[in-house]
Amino acid sequence: MKWDEFSEWGRRVADWTQDYHQTVGDKPVRAMTEPGDVLNALPATPPESGEGMEAIFSDFEDIVMPGITHWQHPRFFAYFTSNASAPSVLAEFLSSAIAPQCMLWQTSPAATEMETRMMDWLRQALDLPEPFQGVIQDSASSATLAAVLTMREKALNWQGNQQGLFKQKPLRVYCSSEVHTSIDRAIWVSGIGQQNLVRIPIKGDWRGMDPDALEAAIEADIAAGLQPAGLILCVGGTGTGATDPVEQCLDIAEKYGLYSHIDAAWAGSAMICPEYRHYWPGVERADSIVFNPHKWLGVQFDCSAHFLKNPDDLVQTLAISPEYLKTHGKDGIINYSEWSVPLGRRFRALKIWFVIRTYGLEGLRQRLRNHVNWSNQLHDKLAETDAFEIITAPMWSLWTFRYAPAGASDLDDLNLRLVNAINDDGRIYLTQTRVDGDLVIRFQAGQFETTETDVMAAYDVITEIAKGL
Ligand SMILES: *Cc1c(COP(=O)(O)O)cnc(C)c1O
Repeated sequence: MKWDEFSEWGRRVADWTQDYHQTVGDKPVRAMTEPGDVLNALPATPPESGEGMEAIFSDFEDIVMPGITHWQHPRFFAYFTSNASAPSVLAEFLSSAIAPQCMLWQTSPAATEMETRMMDWLRQALDLPEPFQGVIQDSASSATLAAVLTMREKALNWQGNQQGLFKQKPLRVYCSSEVHTSIDRAIWVSGIGQQNLVRIPIKGDWRGMDPDALEAAIEADIAAGLQPAGLILCVGGTGTGATDPVEQCLDIAEKYGLYSHIDAAWAGSAMICPEYRHYWPGVERADSIVFNPHKWLGVQFDCSAHFLKNPDDLVQTLAISPEYLKTHGKDGIINYSEWSVPLGRRFRALKIWFVIRTYGLEGLRQRLRNHVNWSNQLHDKLAETDAFEIITAPMWSLWTFRYAPAGASDLDDLNLRLVNAINDDGRIYLTQTRVDGDLVIRFQAGQFETTETDVMAAYDVITEIAKGL
């Protein structure tokens, strides 16, 4: 393809994009394909000679689009959202046009300095104090891995990378039973080992870790000759929005010298609104915090904001400087590849700049507040409906419920059938989780184009389909 033809196709793609976003609400939210449909529609072998864009684009519409679950659908109430707002899409287009490699300051000064500035904008938006500095990671999983590697190296006096873990005292990391599976994987990959991830029981309405049980577990480990290394807290867990008592837990982390990391992948975005910050009192005392602008803030995947009180700990853990990566004679510059596991990095800061400037913090706050308020209205209505039980109360815009008509026996099976029937229907999309062993259905609102009508439409769909079971 010649660049001469590019602008014509670029315009077609732009028109297509606008139309897609304006009509996506008419499509079933979840893809209605069967496993193998797309695979079988794709030729088994690659073409030997090139094809025209007309043919490629037409296959994109015929083969790809029917197999897409529409994350930008206004009635996407499953998982958490992954919003791509219009300015974010434009910024990603530009970033892919320039396609810079942003591993070092020298390989992309503008991207590096934009990242520094944007992470500081986000720091201010969350009202975190100045010692915090940020880096954009590709995902919360990567940020958590970086934090776990840092806790490991700190606890081993920076010897783990060199000597391995052989003959070291077992390191212990503490978290609640409600944390995301990315914590488990970080523990595996870091070599700390699943057996050394200590699950502290939860208590209370927020389903947060019991601080007394945390302290008792640390004491027991010390008495057994093990080495406490880190604490991972969760603010807005994936299943039900579980939130640990941050301040009390960080008191204990400080007392025992543990490195602390807060996973607020979803709920962190809401902290741009002052009225939600009571969910993480004392957050400024954590060593490391991650949240995903790519979930709720309209800055599309991938964009994970990782804040560090002392980036030197992270850099000491991850930096490697072979000669060809050294930028001689430039002091005081940041090479963000030293702050993350991958070397190569995309220009992600651009979409944060476009999004924050387009909406302003106040515009973003208003969207999030609407989502929380509408979700709460739906909750109140379903709570008053016969045969429905609220299982966990709203945490921000997330809550869980169960269909429990009188006389029904196997409620897990009934609710699994309900959620499947709702998703086959296609008007809305929900997912299930387990709460204390029971299968329950989650509801969360957070799609950027969702309206009050979209949220309340979920009521009719849920109750109508439940009746028909
Ligand atoms: C979504 C989520 C993650 C994982 O985020 P990725 O960016 O996909 O790695 C981790 N923790 C929580 C609480 C989440 O909601």
